[in-house]
Amino acid sequence: MPATKLNLIAGNWTAGDSEIENRNPSDLSDLIGLFAQASADQLDATLDRAAAAQVEWAAYGPERKQAVLMNIGNELMARSEELGTLLSREEGKPVAEGKGEVFRAGQFFTYYAAECLRQIGENADSVRAGVEVDVRREPVGVVAIVSPWNFPTATASWKIAPALCYGNAVVWKPANLTPASAVALSEIIAKQDIPKGLMSLVMGSGRAVGQRLVESPKVNAISFTGSVPVGKGIAMAAIQNLTKVQMEMGSKNALVVVDDADLELAVTLALAGAFGGTGQKCTASSRLIVHAAVHDAFVEKLVAGTKALKVGHALEPGTQIGPVVSEQQLNDNLGYVEIGQAAGAELACGGQRLNMSTEGYYMSPGVFLNTTNDMRINREEMFAPLAAVIKVDSYAEALATVNDTNFGLTSGIVTTSLARASHFRRNAKTGVVTVNLPTAGTDYHVPFGGRGDSSYGPREQGKAAAEFYTTVKTAYISAGTPQ
Ligand code: NAP
Ligand code: MG
Repeated sequence: MPATKLNLIAGNWTAGDSEIENRNPSDLSDLIGLFAQASADQLDATLDRAAAAQVEWAAYGPERKQAVLMNIGNELMARSEELGTLLSREEGKPVAEGKGEVFRAGQFFTYYAAECLRQIGENADSVRAGVEVDVRREPVGVVAIVSPWNFPTATASWKIAPALCYGNAVVWKPANLTPASAVALSEIIAKQDIPKGLMSLVMGSGRAVGQRLVESPKVNAISFTGSVPVGKGIAMAAIQNLTKVQMEMGSKNALVVVDDADLELAVTLALAGAFGGTGQKCTASSRLIVHAAVHDAFVEKLVAGTKALKVGHALEPGTQIGPVVSEQQLNDNLGYVEIGQAAGAELACGGQRLNMSTEGYYMSPGVFLNTTNDMRINREEMFAPLAAVIKVDSYAEALATVNDTNFGLTSGIVTTSLARASHFRRNAKTGVVTVNLPTAGTDYHVPFGGRGDSSYGPREQGKAAAEFYTTVKTAYISAGTPQ
């Protein structure tokens, strides 16, 4: 049995009151390790220490903070091969995507390292004579971070890096499906020149540790990424304490293919957007809205491309689609295949459980045809390697269909028309819009977030993150008259 990986409580690696097994979804006989589950008492202890550590950290100069974040970022990038392999082993995405994710996580830290030195306020003359006004941002305090399993290192990093950059302490509750990546990142952070207890790792289930964390009055701000129902519960817990909250949740992203599109490009973007990360991305193109004039040609290429994708063990070279993350997720996905067919959608390919040489949660990527936007498969986030084609008769109908959803994270259009591209950019009701690019895949130095049920609170990433991780102070100074 491997040694149990521990939680980081008040700056000390600490055993929990129980532990869980972490298994490889590509090969269930591969036990990655045992992971401690934090207790309620440990959560309270670490929150108390975090509050004290935050005050010490906020007093560090900007260069000292910058060096800490730069070290974390550089180590993540240097170890992206090793840590990306570990990530893929526990999450199931192809190893190239795992390595890419860890490298990107490093870039979040190096970006915010530089931001440590760019925290410059504003000043103004008061409307009162002889008085000056100074406006600056201060840390919010202790930030609780609750993150999902689908980008276990990157999502946590785009929250932890700005939290530290702007002078806060972090208490991180990662998803229990991907604890190995969480321990690896926490180890890198904990060994830096930071006050003891500035960084806490509290592994455990969402219902136990997560719920207690978000209910704690010792938390000053909560950043959450996950599903809509859990997000709503977190918002209700936060409001009891008037805790600041920011949430990124699900979506039902659409890629529009109009009659002037480059169809080869459209198919490439649809395949990448729908099936990258086994479809388990909040930015996945799960609705493919296609003009009738190019529908049949697009569908023929799409189905052929989907059938050609290689499903396999995440760590095997050549694998394009790994397993889904868990048995629960696989059963939910297969349930949606039945729901779609029962509603009259035609399953053109895939959507089946696959038996491979190792026991894992494999399924073939599936394409639904003849779907309408009111079907459950087009309204609910499936988080599955499943895409649904919706045929439309005009650009206007395509745009209306994109916007007919409760969500609003990303949307994309494939077109050679400048007029349509410009109109779409301005009228798609999503936080992110792409033109001739996949709906998934964003940069780290610009804002990220959505509308409707997809997001709540200030945007993440880039300079926009300062809005959530700081609080503004307005100072009035009367200097008097020099003698
Ligand atoms: P989830 O079930 O909502 O879980 C997200 C996190 O919340 C996990 O760490 C989970 O812990 C925790 N949690 C669960 N119940 C909780 C509670 N009552 N109180 C506090 N925390 C709780 O989502 P998931 O299944 O991990 O991830 C898939 C979902 O995330 C999808 O809906 C997807 O769209 C969304 N997502 C959104 C974005 C975005 O940026 N918009 C990015 C990635 C994923 P445990 O799982 O350990 O129990
Ligand atoms: Mg979950």
